[in-house]
Amino acid sequence: MKSYDLFIDNEWVKSNKEEEQNVINPANEQTVAKIQRGGQEDARAAIDAARTAFDSGGWSKLPPAFRAEYVMKLARILEENMVKYGEIELQNTGKAVKQVIDYDIAYTIDNLKFFAGATRLIEGVATKEYVPDGTSMLRREPVGVVAAITPWNYPLMMVGWRAIPAIAAGNTVVVKPASYTPLTALELAGAIKKVGIPKGVFNVVTGSGSAVGEELARSDKVDMIAFTGSNEVGKKISNLASDSVKRLSLELGGKAPFIVFDDADLDAATEGAVVGGLINNGQDCGAATRIYIQEGVFEKFKKLMIEKLSRIRVGNPTDPKTDLGPLISKEQQAKVKDYIEIGKKEAEILYEGGSRGFESGFFLRPALFSTENNKARIVQEEIFGPVPVLLRFKTYQEVIEKANDVLYGLASSVWTKDIRMAMMAARDLRFGTVWVNDHAPIPSEMPWSPMKKSGYGASTSKYSLEEFTTVKHVYVDLTGQTRKSWYYQIYGDQS
Ligand code: NAP
Ligand code: MG
Repeated sequence: MKSYDLFIDNEWVKSNKEEEQNVINPANEQTVAKIQRGGQEDARAAIDAARTAFDSGGWSKLPPAFRAEYVMKLARILEENMVKYGEIELQNTGKAVKQVIDYDIAYTIDNLKFFAGATRLIEGVATKEYVPDGTSMLRREPVGVVAAITPWNYPLMMVGWRAIPAIAAGNTVVVKPASYTPLTALELAGAIKKVGIPKGVFNVVTGSGSAVGEELARSDKVDMIAFTGSNEVGKKISNLASDSVKRLSLELGGKAPFIVFDDADLDAATEGAVVGGLINNGQDCGAATRIYIQEGVFEKFKKLMIEKLSRIRVGNPTDPKTDLGPLISKEQQAKVKDYIEIGKKEAEILYEGGSRGFESGFFLRPALFSTENNKARIVQEEIFGPVPVLLRFKTYQEVIEKANDVLYGLASSVWTKDIRMAMMAARDLRFGTVWVNDHAPIPSEMPWSPMKKSGYGASTSKYSLEEFTTVKHVYVDLTGQTRKSWYYQIYGDQS
């Protein structure tokens, strides 16, 4: 069985306390690998390595094309080893094989290629004499040492989103992957070494959020936290980070509305609702969880959706016919089951797949609810499992109000053939993404950008690269005078 050490300063090292942790395959509960359970001391060592690498200027001052070349080589290694990375991710997450290879890994490769190219376009704005006596110009500079703290639902992709644009832009990083799913981040560290990225630029410290994560959030030597995860942890990190005045990029929870108007293509909308709701087993911050259906098509939609849900094949993730594997952990399975019980008290259950027939693994088939109560807990709270809810509406105004009436603001979709309705909804929905007649695509060129309590900042796109840079004003005097025209403010009328 493979054992992974911590990756600090391009060396594989044991944790200070030499504690190990088993990594579990959620489909059969078997141990698939062992990792180090790092602690505060290990986090500090990694921060020091990243700090030294940044302050030496060796990485941050490299011409962008050179850093782009390294990132492109990383993408090529992933491409050449797609199946290997996919299998490791599959064993660690239980994701169905057709998702993990064709989507998760393939998309991460595309993200990396985009960041490699886009970092060469980072620029300041036009140079200008904004005051008559001098020329102003802008430099965009890396922020410094970035801690990337990532969740378990898309392990490699989230490292791709939070750490790779950071290094492409000239920062150095310490990655703290989720404890359930650290393996592909550690594999990527091996690739970092292989392509020759200098030491200290990319470090990985596995270990608990409370030990490693909190040390990263607290440390004076870390300039920025790029965090993707829950609201609860996001709040904790922002409190801890405030003492050292860190820059934060927080991508938190979601509860996406999916709005179906009477004129929508119902076959397409129900297909989209099943896929958008069950993507990654509902363990997706953009998953379609609140399905609002206009009254004229509600009954028909409901019937089609139940039919389609009941055909979903939940099982062994290595089987290419499997649609959904298990949930990530026993805790997550218990949490989702609890929400199904809560739902039964406050809403009507239309379909319940349950988890009968599985001898091991954290399997749970989808459930579907219907309610008129927009304030129901299953409508408002992030379940992070395959539990969509159907809600009926009459008017455009009503559905926009209901859809917006939620803490989160990450993603939403609208299903209609009426271009005017679609464009109005795109304007009125307070979510960082509005899809029309689809639910999920995030091209690498476009931002995944939260609103409201889903956080702030952007992942993917040039806006993500901008997050990892700061603007510097450079001013050059043009007058050549000893006493500039405005110095009289200090010298008064003295000669
Ligand atoms: P989580 O519990 O918040 O954990 C995320 C990361 O934070 C993990 O690496 C975790 O480490 C670490 N952590 C935990 N406690 C910490 C602390 N006190 N200080 C610093 N770091 C700490 O989230 P999750 O359960 O992994 O993922 C699910 C959540 O992520 C959902 O809410 C989902 O909506 C959100 N998510 C959002 C997006 C987005 O783009 N907005 C994308 C994916 C997921 P341990 O694993 O060691 O606890
Ligand atoms: Mg968690």
